[in-house]
Amino acid sequence: APVVAVVGRPNVGKSTLVNRLIGRRQAVVEDTPGVTRDRIPYDAVWNGRRFTVVDTGGWEPDAEGRAAAIAAQAEIAIATADVIILVIDAQVGATDADEAAVRILHRSKKPVILVANKVDDARSEADAAALWSLGLGEPHPVSALHGRGSGDLLDVVLDRMPELPEADYATESGPRRVALVGRPNVGKSSLLNRLAGEDRVVVDSVAGTTVDPVDSLIELDSDTWRFVDTAGLRKRVKQASGTEFYASLRTQSAVEAAEVAVVLLDASEPISEQDQRVLSQVVEAGRALVIAFNKWDLVDEDRRYYLDREIDRELARITWAPRVNISASTGRAVAKLAPALRTALAGWEQRIPTGELNQWISGLIAARPHPIRGGKAPKVLFMTQAGIRPPKFVLFTSGRLDPQYVRFIERRLREDFGFTGSPIAITVKARE
Ligand code: GDP
Repeated sequence: APVVAVVGRPNVGKSTLVNRLIGRRQAVVEDTPGVTRDRIPYDAVWNGRRFTVVDTGGWEPDAEGRAAAIAAQAEIAIATADVIILVIDAQVGATDADEAAVRILHRSKKPVILVANKVDDARSEADAAALWSLGLGEPHPVSALHGRGSGDLLDVVLDRMPELPEADYATESGPRRVALVGRPNVGKSSLLNRLAGEDRVVVDSVAGTTVDPVDSLIELDSDTWRFVDTAGLRKRVKQASGTEFYASLRTQSAVEAAEVAVVLLDASEPISEQDQRVLSQVVEAGRALVIAFNKWDLVDEDRRYYLDREIDRELARITWAPRVNISASTGRAVAKLAPALRTALAGWEQRIPTGELNQWISGLIAARPHPIRGGKAPKVLFMTQAGIRPPKFVLFTSGRLDPQYVRFIERRLREDFGFTGSPIAITVKARE
């Protein structure tokens, strides 16, 4: 559902307004400076449309004053919300902290609705009009406490909401796109032919279809998959002049066209620098990844022993990728490819709700606090998943986190939530 974030200084009436928006008659909790309220998303419905209201409130004003705290809120709102409501106390008027928030919100492309709260009667409407000066357009006068203007506000909120919930390409349909990549002679053509079973490659240029003729549609495990950019492999046209540079460009374009890549490695040979480069291309492009060790029929006890050590050493940075040991020649374990692809794609599209994520990070930090530096430890204020395909996270902090601590968070994130087969990105937004 679309997310509406409510931003504002302490005591402007954010929680009262949130209660109005979600239509619940809860005990009104005003934010008291110094008291941290849970940043919980609430479900709301208005005129049959569902949406989520996130109360960004409860920031502890930091030592430097309120402006920094409200700026942090604004950034969280920008990162998480489809629509942002900035609440101003019309009886007080716009403060420096409000203006700091406006500057940050202004730079984002997100729709911002300006709410002039505590306009309890018609006589106070002039207080609301004064807020035109903020440059956010029309101030919407509301009395969150008495409910005055809240219906009108909800209409405005719905108006500003995007038609489609999220641009996460969830609507894209058709076969999942797979890149089959690896250095020359690892067995890409052999595997493709094995998977396609010669005549099981669905015709690639059917009139009236949108199938790109360089792709192959192949049925695996009762799903159709689109193996992108496979014309060269299928035709067994070996580019005799294929320098590594051109091979790398072809890999790049296939990986970018795909959602998930199968990186083929030759299990009978040492993992090479060129293999590493192919793996890096997939990780850097942010695609889901499955590692397939081909030519497993050539692997004996001895080789197996060395291979295990090579894997520990060479693939330490991508232990999260599913691995399958196959043989394109004999057909060994190629049936495991489709389940591995599904696992990797699921990890690539996994989303953790904001509430759950924040509960998790609080627990983690309580159990293993950030080391103290220069007398104080940086604090994690809020964590949100800003996107999928691949999963991206934003950590809002006061003070800079050690890179080592960020890696620790990433490691635990994978241990506790999986994300098997997908790279993940963590961005830290620090306020000093
Ligand atoms: P590509 O350059 O990655 O497309 O590799 P090819 O599919 O042309 O294979 C290169 C060589 O490895 C060929 O001689 C294949 O017959 C051989 N090969 C491919 N897969 C296997 C396998 O699983 N086992 C063995 N023993 N040989 C394989």
